[in-house]
Amino acid sequence: MRIEEVQSSTKKQRIATHTHIKGLGLDPNTGTAIPMAAGFVGQVAAREAAGLVVDMIRQKKMAGRALLLAGPPSTGKTALALGISQELGSKVPFCPMVGSEVYSAEVKKTEVLMENFRRAIGLRIKENKEVYEGEVTELSPEETESTAGGYGKSISHVIIGLKTVKGTKQLKLDPTIYDALIKEKVAVGDVIYIEANSGAVKRVGRCDAFATEYDLEAEEYVPIPKGEVHKKKEIVQDVTLHDLDAANARPQGGQDILSLMGQMMKPRKTEITEKLRQEINKVVNRYIDEGVAELVPGVLFIDEVHMLDIECFSYLNRALESTLAPIVIFATNRGICNVRGTDMTSPHGIPVDLLDRLVIIRTETYGPTEMIQILAIRAQVEELEIDEESLAYLGEIGQHASLRHAIQLLSPASIVAKTNGRDKICKADIEEVSSLYLDAKSSAKLLQAQQERYIT
Ligand code: ATP
Repeated sequence: MRIEEVQSSTKKQRIATHTHIKGLGLDPNTGTAIPMAAGFVGQVAAREAAGLVVDMIRQKKMAGRALLLAGPPSTGKTALALGISQELGSKVPFCPMVGSEVYSAEVKKTEVLMENFRRAIGLRIKENKEVYEGEVTELSPEETESTAGGYGKSISHVIIGLKTVKGTKQLKLDPTIYDALIKEKVAVGDVIYIEANSGAVKRVGRCDAFATEYDLEAEEYVPIPKGEVHKKKEIVQDVTLHDLDAANARPQGGQDILSLMGQMMKPRKTEITEKLRQEINKVVNRYIDEGVAELVPGVLFIDEVHMLDIECFSYLNRALESTLAPIVIFATNRGICNVRGTDMTSPHGIPVDLLDRLVIIRTETYGPTEMIQILAIRAQVEELEIDEESLAYLGEIGQHASLRHAIQLLSPASIVAKTNGRDKICKADIEEVSSLYLDAKSSAKLLQAQQERYIT
């Protein structure tokens, strides 16, 4: 098993604008929101309600249910969902998606949902890495079936006698070691090292001197005080179920899944079939039973939930019941609207049977002070210098347009400032970029006013 080479493929780019969010910023004793903490500003009631949801998740009371964040655009719904996942633990997967993503010409809607479900379920795999070092000793013929120096090969394993400073050890190792020993021309009396991983040999080689040790961090042999010749280390690796699916998917299919575990991530477009997922689930369940791995349910965030249709909703209803379900957080900025694929209308465009399962949290629009504080935090994490006047002006822009639009003006404004030979953004830079880039509302207004000039 070589799971440790699987690369995790979290969707990083989508959460780049939230790098300042480090949690929900709640007082650990009272659960009340600290006005400015963990990168969060204001939105106090929603943060506290989210904190309660974190408690419910920890107490396993959210099973079969989901969370809905309802509020106007740019009011921190994505930020709240991310904050919840961070409160659950630093290695908890967070998978953001937009409802409209399910409409692809190539992939079925439920397939897209399934893939994202699996991106939101983590697996923590623990492996034991062992390093042995010692002098190869003679073994009696009973101990080995054939003796090539101090080691012998049987069908299922290799036995090697190693004299260490702590005494002679007999190691039963994976047969691959035999070839490695022959290749190295290891003979009795040679001092060798063996790196093993859960019994499977990873590396074998000669040591120049007896008293060296493999330093796992430095990845090299270093002199050691005599007596320490055998080191064990637990390696922990976090992957998602989707990482395992993708690492094992091959267009041809049919390979033994265990031997494929170590495949490097292939570029997308490889076929992940239902059969392959079931195989992976089987292996994963076995690892869990053996105590080698542990499930880490993460957060699946589905923005613009009203874009999903009735087929997706019925799939979600079922998927929420599964034992392998992540925490699902929906977000919407719509009120009563049509449920796609039907002629019904419903609050947030969500069918009533799913609405029934939801815990709903509202987010409120920010006032100028809060917007300025959030903008100041963003400027800081983006390492941009900006004066007070410009921040206040950006805050005003945020009030008219949206917070996101104001945040987005920060980096072009810093480029304009640099072009003008300054390190610090000033109001004129903001004025210049805001005249260059339209926010969504002004763009819509302009389109309406100049309708006759556009093709309809
Ligand atoms: P939409 O509905 O348009 O997807 P949203 O409600 O998900 O918007 P976000 O994307 O979370 O809004 O917020 C816009 C930006 O403002 C993000 O960069 C987010 O990190 C930041 N932000 C929002 N609210 C807060 C807050 N209370 N404290 C700090 N940063 C915030």
